[in-house]
Amino acid sequence: MNRVSVVTTPERRYVERPVELRADGETLPRTLVGYAAVFDTWALIGSGKLRFRERIARGAFAKTIRESDVRLLVNHEPAPVLARTKNGTLQLSEDDVGLRVEAVLDAENPAVAAVIRQIQRGDVDQMSFAFDVIRDDWNTDADPPERTIREVRLWDVSVVTFPAYEETSVHVRMDERVRQLLEERGVVPEDVSDELAPEDTPWERPNLSDFTDKPWDELSVAEKRRIAGHFAWAASMPPERYGDLKLPHHDPATGRVVWRGVAAAMAALFGARGGVDIPSADRRRVYEHLARHYRQFDREPPEFSSASWYPAPRAGEEPPDVRASVVARRRNLLLVRMKLWR
Ligand SMILES: [Zn+2]
Repeated sequence: MNRVSVVTTPERRYVERPVELRADGETLPRTLVGYAAVFDTWALIGSGKLRFRERIARGAFAKTIRESDVRLLVNHEPAPVLARTKNGTLQLSEDDVGLRVEAVLDAENPAVAAVIRQIQRGDVDQMSFAFDVIRDDWNTDADPPERTIREVRLWDVSVVTFPAYEETSVHVRMDERVRQLLEERGVVPEDVSDELAPEDTPWERPNLSDFTDKPWDELSVAEKRRIAGHFAWAASMPPERYGDLKLPHHDPATGRVVWRGVAAAMAALFGARGGVDIPSADRRRVYEHLARHYRQFDREPPEFSSASWYPAPRAGEEPPDVRASVVARRRNLLLVRMKLWR
């Protein structure tokens, strides 16, 4: 099987707990104690579509503590090296709080002494760590999506001047596979109306002209949003094109929910008539939207099944190029999913 190529650059995170110095040296303190990471605390990372919540699970550092040669640095820069695990001047451990750092510093080294003074004065008081993710779980059904980091490989732990800078720039360091998954996400619009049309109301897929006489580009943002409220998925909000709206199920004239539209949208979500090209990460939310309408009509929604997201092309069916590229994209997404959820 082909492998999804990934770009690996270290990610960085910081904690707000201040670093401590022990008053144990002749002129300057020698021992630094702090936490470079805290367990089981949600942090909001990134922005826009790339926003997600993240936490680090206990045990994430266990293997790398045993195997990696880790340096204690300043701002992740190669010099000065304050301490190192290989020679025992840096000790890393996991406790109930997180990744505990204890280092014996060389106060005789002027470059290190300068850093000790900065920490003593409180000019620098926070820590950060640079890492590659070895194992993580994603819950893309949550909004924003949730990432739990299970195992990392540590590059360094650092005392840092500007921890906030790391947070704002984190998305540029984000793993490509995750970026692809999150960037593909769309929006489940808010319903234009909760009222139900009579159950036997006929249904036909609406065109833009069923909503308005104007071309799409002349519509206001409010009008675009109102039209999007008739659909179960939009590529973005407001949508750039009418074609960015998928799975209509509300009557264009009244906004009321049409049962046959709901059933057709659900069938398409499950692959009927070539399915619908929306990212796998959005399927659960679209499903929940349609399932709610099922219950409004006193119907039992079908069970949500990930297996039916990727319908195999039928034998003898020669899909046009557009369809072929859609299928290829689904396969790529499936590969990404397999890596993420393996
Ligand atoms: Zn709806």
